[in-house]
Amino acid sequence: MTQLIVVGLLVLACYAIQCLIWPFASCRGCGGSGKHRSPSGRTFRNCSRCSGSGRHLRLGRRLFGGH
Ligand SMILES: [Zn+2]
Repeated sequence: MTQLIVVGLLVLACYAIQCLIWPFASCRGCGGSGKHRSPSGRTFRNCSRCSGSGRHLRLGRRLFGGH
């Protein structure tokens, strides 16, 4: 049981470190482009999920001291 906790903490620590180094993931709404294209493909508007930034702050980063 103790081993399970240690492994769990290690996984959590690795995840926390990764979130510090790579705090952003691609927005799931637009795939990281920040644009929401019209069906014609020629016009677009800002993605409403990320408001045009194309990135998505990872949950871990929010938990471990991000903003
Ligand atoms: Zn987006």
